[in-house]
Amino acid sequence: MSKSYRRFDALAAVKNDYSATADKNFNITEIFGENTLHIDVLKERLPKAVWKELKKTITDQEPLNSDVADAVAVVMKDWATEKGATHYTHWFQPLTGATAEKHDSFVTPNQGGGAIMQFSGKELIQGEPDASSFPSGGLRPTFEARGYTAWDPTSPAFIMENPNGATLCIPTAFASWKGDSLDYKTPLLRSTESLNTQALRALELLGDSSSKWVTSTGGFEQEYFLIDQEFYYRRPDLMTSGRTLFGAKPPKGQELDDHYFGSIPDRILSFMMDLERELYRMGVPVKTRHNEVAPGQYEIAPVFEKANVAADHQQVTMIMLRKMAGKYGFVCLMHEKPFAGLNGSGKHTNWSMATSKGENLLEPGETPHTNLRFLFFCTAVMKAVYDYQDLLRAAIASAGNDHRLGANEAPPAILSVFLGDQLTDVYKQLLDGGLKSSKKTGLLGLGSPVLPDLPLHAGDRNRTSPFAFTGNKFEFRAVGSAQTVSLPVTVLNTIVAAAIDDMCSMLEDKGINADNLESVLGEVLQDVYKDIHNIVFNGDGYSDEWQAEAEKRGLFNLKTTMDALPRLIEKKNLDLFEKYKVLKPQEVEARYEIFIEQYFINLNIEAETTATITKTMLVPAVVRYLNELLALNDRGSATGLSIDPTKALASEINDTLGELLVALDKLEKQNAELGGDTAEEKAKHLHYNVLPEMNAVRAVADKLESLVADDYWPLPTYREMLFVK
Ligand code: ADP
Ligand code: MG
Repeated sequence: MSKSYRRFDALAAVKNDYSATADKNFNITEIFGENTLHIDVLKERLPKAVWKELKKTITDQEPLNSDVADAVAVVMKDWATEKGATHYTHWFQPLTGATAEKHDSFVTPNQGGGAIMQFSGKELIQGEPDASSFPSGGLRPTFEARGYTAWDPTSPAFIMENPNGATLCIPTAFASWKGDSLDYKTPLLRSTESLNTQALRALELLGDSSSKWVTSTGGFEQEYFLIDQEFYYRRPDLMTSGRTLFGAKPPKGQELDDHYFGSIPDRILSFMMDLERELYRMGVPVKTRHNEVAPGQYEIAPVFEKANVAADHQQVTMIMLRKMAGKYGFVCLMHEKPFAGLNGSGKHTNWSMATSKGENLLEPGETPHTNLRFLFFCTAVMKAVYDYQDLLRAAIASAGNDHRLGANEAPPAILSVFLGDQLTDVYKQLLDGGLKSSKKTGLLGLGSPVLPDLPLHAGDRNRTSPFAFTGNKFEFRAVGSAQTVSLPVTVLNTIVAAAIDDMCSMLEDKGINADNLESVLGEVLQDVYKDIHNIVFNGDGYSDEWQAEAEKRGLFNLKTTMDALPRLIEKKNLDLFEKYKVLKPQEVEARYEIFIEQYFINLNIEAETTATITKTMLVPAVVRYLNELLALNDRGSATGLSIDPTKALASEINDTLGELLVALDKLEKQNAELGGDTAEEKAKHLHYNVLPEMNAVRAVADKLESLVADDYWPLPTYREMLFVK
């Protein structure tokens, strides 16, 4: 009778004595950005006139003058080849959520039989990858499979190294030949422009006509798990779906809270340091590293940047996390819920708006002037969240994130805004009296000492809120760790642009001017806040009371992807995207279709993997062990030993195995059904019929894990994966 030694091989092989190291003799300021073609290099190398043109696009968000492309291409190629690059790639973000690259060499044969390195403006500006295999949601029938990538000059090109060479990566947008966006970057750039237009309009009304542009800023905190490769490759569930579909709760989980901010084990820290160093070289400004709440869970966070660049850097960070994990014998799990019963992983999306003068529009500030401006923009963000709760929720809907939202460790699926006590008080006074009331010396007349007390750095924090004001920015905490931030940021930019637009119109209707500015603004803020104040909630988002209270307030509670995704194509949301030129209706509908498809494909993989593992790994292990117990029963009876307790154990295992087989049978029956022909019908079938059966199988299997002899159990256990490092 052969036992399963797979797990024990893994345990023996765990590379506690990892040998990977990195050169530690480096100076951060010297290596920072050495693999990024940042503006200083461009400025130095480009002819003056070309640089002046390009700069308008890079720093002032003006349209690109394509005449500059040839000169830029030469500089790019020279710079990249000096760094050892032989190839370039248009690096883009198709709707798979990952990044895509197709490498082309700079090498061009010359007449003498040799070769030179060449790169033209045409090649820089536009590429044509074979696009038929990227999701298009029907926007691009396969027979017209052409898709184009277009250079985004506002995000710097960078070099991706490999031990055997290097590649120049040029951030690009990706569209169909008809001009429909097939990617995440295009709508992000479009939404940045709409936000720019509306925010400049508002600043002008508020008396600032010298800001040249406004952009959103983003700082994205990435949570992830690291486990040893040896375990990973022995878990078909992790390999196919990114999460464990089985696994009994370990005796020690995260109850002791001894992991959070704890000292970082050497092997992990070596990984982090090596990772950071590579990210520095690529110009990604990573700043923070620490242990997270669950064992085996960590976080990396950067300093914020313009949202478009920050979103690209977030993608680079995910790529490098995966790569670097391999070097240290780990696998980096970025799934939202790799381990049941432990905290999942999110990607806190910090968001604000900054002007060309470097001012943060959500900085409360100390003077009445900046306070006024702050109150206007802060109110606009709250109005945006209130008006488009459903859209924000839809933007972060995925099979993986469903495990997190509302699971009492991540924010609930209800969108609300946390303001903190001080700011809530300011708004309360606004409701009661308004800015139009008596004016005090040099300060805005909110009555009592309100405005000077605006919290410069909010002391209070509320971890249960999905959308929290944290001192000088908002933090959207419901975004999942595996998701691209581009869509949530696109939605934020767009809905805030819409709110600012509405509020500007209100100011204009009331004939705002320099003399009546304070009183008119006060009236508008009061009117707006009156309508939206239900979105503010400072209490415990995990509590049952909040679920009831939110319902009373009429807030959305879209619990799962199947509840949330259809909101994407609600008329009001289609209209919004169209009005602000972010996505055409067919582009939104295509995304809806793709997201639904991704949802059911993911669940389908999980369901089939659950059935296969059960049938081919777990049932056989249980049968072997049961067989051994029954053999003892036989021999025990023959020798007259009292074997009742063993019989009882055999009987319990036999019964549970029976339960498992029944549950497996039900799952397999559901797996065999399609549920319908459309993506929507299939998704519903998986959500309502398959998922419950999958969970039922797991529940029984996890029970068996604690009944069956340890040396028979084929899957690495939670206790091993989370604690052996
Ligand atoms: P915490 O989440 O504990 O509040 P920090 O305040 O340090 O941590 O910030 C978290 C993230 O928010 C960081 O990535 C930081 O760069 C980012 N951030 C800070 N200010 C802004 C801003 N104005 N716009 C966007 N992101 C910001
Ligand atoms: Mg945070």
